[in-house]
Amino acid sequence: MARKKLIAANWKMYKTPDQTRDFFRDFLPLVQAHNRDEIVVCPTYLCIDAAVTAAKGSNVAIGAQNLYWEKDGAYTGEINAAMLLSVGVTHVIIGHSERRQYFGETDDSVNLKLKSALEAGLIPIVCVGEVLEEREAGLTDDVLRRQCLRAFNKVSAKKAASLVVAYEPVWAIGTGKTATPQMAADAHAIIRAEAAESFGPEFADKLRILYGGSVKPENAHALMSEEEIDGALVGGASLDAKSFAAIVKY
Ligand code: PEP
Repeated sequence: MARKKLIAANWKMYKTPDQTRDFFRDFLPLVQAHNRDEIVVCPTYLCIDAAVTAAKGSNVAIGAQNLYWEKDGAYTGEINAAMLLSVGVTHVIIGHSERRQYFGETDDSVNLKLKSALEAGLIPIVCVGEVLEEREAGLTDDVLRRQCLRAFNKVSAKKAASLVVAYEPVWAIGTGKTATPQMAADAHAIIRAEAAESFGPEFADKLRILYGGSVKPENAHALMSEEEIDGALVGGASLDAKSFAAIVKY
């Protein structure tokens, strides 16, 4: 079945509010007639207000890069789903490998974050992916299945309807090394099979699975031409308006 592709920008810890406004001033005219794909930009928390204001009335949605699963409380430095929704955020990245690597995020915290995002009505983009040693040891299949199984634990298909998964091989993030379209398609098929086990085949058929890892204007077309690849999560190449627009238009 045809799944509308989603092209998402992960700005990581880059850009000030002024730079965010500059980006949207340049980017929006380049994509304003584009309705083939969904477009999402995920700035830092600090720039969400500037991004939401700049993108208002456009075809670009705004996402966050993280959230915390608890309701209001004594959790210094954290932000929850309701707070994100209240400022116009619609999507949220969960379990990015940089958060797993540097901030102690685990499959279990990913599961809690996923549940709280779905409960609140945010569209979650759950990131999974193997590190190089795991790929070289032939463990990619096991790692992806484990990460998905634990992320989806006690989440119902009904609740998970808006779920998006991003396959991001860790060895390809910010390294300039991209998975070949075939490698990505094979990994996506594993994730889809796991989603079928957790949520049923119909759900899996509709599930959008994005590829992330050094997506650039030069390789976007080949990647997006794979039937299994339902969009992209783009880091470095999303910081420049022209480059991200070229990826959106692949
Ligand atoms: C990412 O941050 O999700 C990512 C894929 O980064 P890059 O495109 O820079 O590899």
